[in-house]
Amino acid sequence: MAAHQEKKPPEERKRRSAANDNGTSQAQWGRAWEVDWFSLASIIFLLMFAPLIVYYFIMCCDQYQCSLMDPLIDLFMGKKHLSDIWDKTPTLTYRAACIYTLWVTFQVILYVFIPDFCHKFLPGYVGGVQEGAVTPAGVVNKYEINGLQAWIITHVLWFANAYYFHFFSPTIIFDNWIPLLWCANILGYAVSTFAMIKSYFFPTNAKDCKFTGNFFYDYMMGIEFNPRIGKWFDFKLFFNGRPGIVAWTLINLSYAAKQQELYGQVTNSMILVNVLQGIYVLDFFWNEARYLKTIDICHDHFGWYLGWGDCVWLPYLYTLQGLYLVYHPVQLGTANAIGILMLGLIGYYIFRMTNHQKDLFRRTNGNCKIWGKKPEYIECSYMSVDGTKYYSKLLTSGFWGWARHFNYTGDLMGSLAYCLACGFEHILPYFYIVYMTILLTHRCIRDEHRCFSKYGKDWKRYTAAVPYRLIPGIF
Ligand code: NDP
Repeated sequence: MAAHQEKKPPEERKRRSAANDNGTSQAQWGRAWEVDWFSLASIIFLLMFAPLIVYYFIMCCDQYQCSLMDPLIDLFMGKKHLSDIWDKTPTLTYRAACIYTLWVTFQVILYVFIPDFCHKFLPGYVGGVQEGAVTPAGVVNKYEINGLQAWIITHVLWFANAYYFHFFSPTIIFDNWIPLLWCANILGYAVSTFAMIKSYFFPTNAKDCKFTGNFFYDYMMGIEFNPRIGKWFDFKLFFNGRPGIVAWTLINLSYAAKQQELYGQVTNSMILVNVLQGIYVLDFFWNEARYLKTIDICHDHFGWYLGWGDCVWLPYLYTLQGLYLVYHPVQLGTANAIGILMLGLIGYYIFRMTNHQKDLFRRTNGNCKIWGKKPEYIECSYMSVDGTKYYSKLLTSGFWGWARHFNYTGDLMGSLAYCLACGFEHILPYFYIVYMTILLTHRCIRDEHRCFSKYGKDWKRYTAAVPYRLIPGIF
């Protein structure tokens, strides 16, 4: 919707054919057409090792009380062989396959068949049919925004079962965690492979497909931009938000239930992780319409990176803190608990306000107030594949005047708070902050590369006005 609104009336648009005012070719906007050896090597590395990394972390908790070093020491000292570890690993079970199939089917039903009603009674919530940003081929997709509703229905049913119906134990997710991992992998690979085949034989929009000719790159980064089945089943919106992010809070609740079952109480660190991550998840669904303007939806193509990542990487590695706390229940002192809560809430506030300022600025086309003043910005232009010229603005005041991605800085503060809640006995819970730092720094650089391709010299003016990426004065 942002770019759609930014588009000036037809008489103000100019048609061009190859390059825009910034001297950048349209063919550069979006993900790469050509693959350099470094990207290819990273992609092959991830395709080979990312599933093993997930398995390793979960296995360490299951067999080694969350120690990342002990399995390596055992193997190195010859006390154990890989086959010993593998033999102790729970296999795929019929029960897990049923749970997972029911779960995904339920989320598909909530996504496809229940139009949003939350926006009818929740003031300020934007749901129902919304438009995405203009794609490189000049398409504006419509989306049914009903994630908040899906999250609420799912959680109401979860609590109804836990406190009233007792059809299944609330520890069900923890109790089947490794068998469910195999199911999630099957879905992740199936959906990525299907997306690749689909892009060759029946793409949703052929003009928004990108083929590099390199099988591994295309499989990982995706070919189709917005693959869909029918009018409404959008792969990116569905797999990104549900089943992974709806599951995130349920997984944490299942860990809390397991603590209760094992130790007769839920520790304050577990409550902190549940609350802080719960706020983050709810924020995601409350702002799902704005999510249509984020990099995932606006710029990334749908491949293994999103398909497998959403099914496996996200639910398994973003929830490591809760899993760790089942094995190591940490009761924080009051001062530490308050300090961590404050860090998490301040991080969240920065994350939310930064995203809000950009959204407000783009939505009102600059006719708004940022910190009580008229916003400062840089005018810029870009072109879609059909040569239509669009105009946009880059905000340079508020948090966007401090750094070019201060939203990531807030996100990192919140991420650090989840990890700190687990104490300092093991490094496993700190994987998240290390990963998020790498992810968001890389994302920052990737986004800036793309924005430079899109806006050319206007982007250079912007980076001169706001010279730092994440931390003012430092980076
Ligand atoms: P942003 O929301 O920062 O979006 C970047 C886009 O915003 C750019 O491509 C550009 O798009 C536009 N933009 C950049 N600078 C400006 C400016 N000064 N004024 C106006 N528009 C600008 O990034 P993401 O989509 O990556 O992230 C959204 C949120 O999601 C972040 O808060 C991030 O922390 C979070 N996130 C969380 C992840 C997780 O795994 N937990 C993963 C990724 C993100 P355009 O082409 O429209 O100009």
